[in-house]
Amino acid sequence: MTANGTPAIITVAITGAIPTTRDNPAVPVTPAQQVESAHEAFEAGATVCHIHVRDSDQRPSSDPGRFAVVQDGLRRHCPGMIVQFSTGGRGRAHAERAGPLRLRPEMASLATGSVNFPEQVYDNPPDVVEDFAGTMLELEIKPEIEVFDLAMLYAAAGLLERGLIRMPVHVQLVLGIRNALPAREALVDFFAAELAEVLPGATWTCAAIGRSQLDANRWSLARGGHVRTGLEDNLYFERGRLARSNAELVARAADLCAEYGRRPAGQEEARALLGVRGG
Ligand code: MG
Repeated sequence: MTANGTPAIITVAITGAIPTTRDNPAVPVTPAQQVESAHEAFEAGATVCHIHVRDSDQRPSSDPGRFAVVQDGLRRHCPGMIVQFSTGGRGRAHAERAGPLRLRPEMASLATGSVNFPEQVYDNPPDVVEDFAGTMLELEIKPEIEVFDLAMLYAAAGLLERGLIRMPVHVQLVLGIRNALPAREALVDFFAAELAEVLPGATWTCAAIGRSQLDANRWSLARGGHVRTGLEDNLYFERGRLARSNAELVARAADLCAEYGRRPAGQEEARALLGVRGG
């Protein structure tokens, strides 16, 4: 199968840590809203759901109880959809961020280094990265390596060398965060070429924030990568018009695949491509 013929895994990042219903009323912030929004996105073609949870005031949270409710809802209403927890949480204790991993989602995010975000450091010191990776290995959770800065790509190769992650590795390049990597297509070329050298056989996604989200979808599809969309990263469908739902963004990403000789991956295909354990 040529790179361009590979089915495209569509990840929907439904909520994130930042946007609230004041920014876009379609942002799902309660577990019930999150399950409903994920279900619509699933029907529109998403096969991975990236999850953050909020407290009752919409503030970001690592509450395992909330993660459990969303995970149960997804397993019930979106059979086969891959559940991916965020282990992010700028400013929260590392142990708190890792707590929900005990629920054994099929996947979880793993940032392999620290980086400046718009207003703070997203801190992931080496011992914490190793600890998170070791926990995921023990619990058979497939990490999605998050590359917010290119050093994180090489740090992931180091984890593989030390046996803390396993092949096949899945890596996401994140562009367009202020103070981190800009949304520039040349970076995708550099990233994809280096990834093939240092983590041969890895699957990858390029995600971008705000108006660059759609550009990143195109850059990935053109190069054999996978795609991520959703209200976590972008609140607008087009300039001046808020997205009506996560599903609306997913449907557009699914439609885009054909322009690049691709099609959205089915649930079993996504699991096989990522090497995640069965649902
Ligand atoms: Mg996230």
